[in-house]
Amino acid sequence: DPKKHADWEIAQDSEKSMKTIYEVAEEFGLTKEELLPQGHYIGKIDYRKVLERLKDKPNGKYVDVTAITPTPLGEGKSTSTMGLVQGLGKRGKRVSAAIRQPSGGPTMNIKGSAAGGGLAQCIPLTPFSLGFTGDINAIMNAHNLAMVALTSRMQHERNYTDEQLDRLTKMRRLDVDPTNVEMGWVIDYCCQSLRNIVIGMDGVNGKRDGFMMRSKFGIAVSSEVMGILSVATSLKDMRERMGKIVVAYDKKGNPVTTEDLEVAGAMTAWMVDALNPNLMQTLEGQPVVVHAGPFANIAIGQSSIIADQVGLKLADYHVTESGFGADIGFEKFWNLKCRYSGLVPDAAVVVATIRALKCHGGAPVPVPGKAMPKEYSEESVEWVEKGCANLIHHIRNVRKAGISPVVCLNAFVSDTKAECDKVRELVEAEGAKFAISEHWEKGGDGALDLADVVIEACEEPTNFKFLYDLDMPVKERIELIATEVYGADGVDFSADASAALSRIQADPELAKLGLCMVKTHLSLSDNPALKGVPTGWRLQIREVLTYGGAGFIVPVAGTISLMPGTGSNPSFRRVDVDVDTGKVQGIF
Ligand code: ADP
Repeated sequence: DPKKHADWEIAQDSEKSMKTIYEVAEEFGLTKEELLPQGHYIGKIDYRKVLERLKDKPNGKYVDVTAITPTPLGEGKSTSTMGLVQGLGKRGKRVSAAIRQPSGGPTMNIKGSAAGGGLAQCIPLTPFSLGFTGDINAIMNAHNLAMVALTSRMQHERNYTDEQLDRLTKMRRLDVDPTNVEMGWVIDYCCQSLRNIVIGMDGVNGKRDGFMMRSKFGIAVSSEVMGILSVATSLKDMRERMGKIVVAYDKKGNPVTTEDLEVAGAMTAWMVDALNPNLMQTLEGQPVVVHAGPFANIAIGQSSIIADQVGLKLADYHVTESGFGADIGFEKFWNLKCRYSGLVPDAAVVVATIRALKCHGGAPVPVPGKAMPKEYSEESVEWVEKGCANLIHHIRNVRKAGISPVVCLNAFVSDTKAECDKVRELVEAEGAKFAISEHWEKGGDGALDLADVVIEACEEPTNFKFLYDLDMPVKERIELIATEVYGADGVDFSADASAALSRIQADPELAKLGLCMVKTHLSLSDNPALKGVPTGWRLQIREVLTYGGAGFIVPVAGTISLMPGTGSNPSFRRVDVDVDTGKVQGIF
């Protein structure tokens, strides 16, 4: 009973009777050779074999799950993704999900794992939450190797003459500008102390202790290598992308890439297994493909293209998740991921909760790790009604992509009938489909209405279209996203951002890359404190990064950092191990 037991307790109880990975794979339609088991309950999928064998089979229906602007607690996108898949399963459909592997940052900080919740989860929970099959480790190793290559090269170039360099290593001088190093290091935690650092300080080895310069860490899932994993379509594609990562600029302002550092091959070597998506199951036994990483605010934040290609070949309905609200997660799904994959969605589910609607309507913002403000246990149709402006903004964004939105009200036991009726009334007045879904409390049986409405939506014709063409100047595209998707009056660019944009626009290859916006997920604006639908504001673009390998131009808005911080009541305080059984407790 989810009202009495924590998510991890429900997961552990269900794990006693879960299917083996061999059964999950067989029911999913994989051959023995296509499953690469990792223990009894998790596997990797040899995607190449699957896509080759089924290349002539038509794809199933493609459903994206997105949300309204969430509170810091999350509004149940993963939970609703699991619920929808379990509901479609109860309706007898061949179905699969694609979700992202959780990052150690939120798992140990505020959010717990990302396996869903209540009776709508995927299992086994502990390995999923703690490292899983090692994909994020591989990403960290690949990414940090580029920094090892760069920093050791800078030291050697400083310590040796041109003649020595040539004689010792046959290396040409790259002449990196230490004040223009775009890449930093990565670690899979939220660690604010690593945001701004100095490296290479002299130690006992003097000049052989590195090159002193300012540096930085980002969270691993924001790495460009994660971006590459999300959009790569083959190992060849990944290898090519891996060489185009811009690490720094030389003293003349020319980019220095991973290929220039001769490290792209070794980076790809770390990633060969990671390119195979992972397989696990819902609490009710449907296949869940797990691949790539979260954080649609500071990364692409989508399950991978390969995961979706596999799901669409094997299932009649494939449900994929894109992070946070439709302004960022869905916008990247729409204009970036679908552009690069060529796949066309049939429907999009916008998850809303009464708690987030109340928050947008004026209730105090809930703080993770602290008690819920009392306003959330009292009925307030007025706040819900006011907050629906945010939901309607997201519905309209989904419509701009030419697909029909389905609103899923992810039911909490504290919701009242009057509050839910108000949401239904306003959503239906907006012409969108609507279902209240009780998957958290009842599993697939609670998601039958949602499943039916999604099936209906998938039968409707779509007119999928991108918001922008890649021919449009990058600056204009940023302005279009800001005004059309976020509701800004316009965009202000810092001097740094303007300089980067001029450089990018002057390079025909870079000017044609897609946009991966970095913006807070807690508001439609770039200020996390502004709720509802903020008006009369301008988007502030602080810097513009180039992810030449992933194929993204990355404009960074407001004060957001690629390295989140750990709060004062982090969830690691509640995690421990039963030393008799080795079972991990307290990961939620
Ligand atoms: P998201 O994917 O949108 O970030 P999650 O699915 O991870 O959100 O859910 C966030 C948290 O909220 C999880 O701890 C989950 O157990 C909880 N949760 C989700 N839906 C419900 C619900 N309907 N009732 C109670 N708790 C819920």
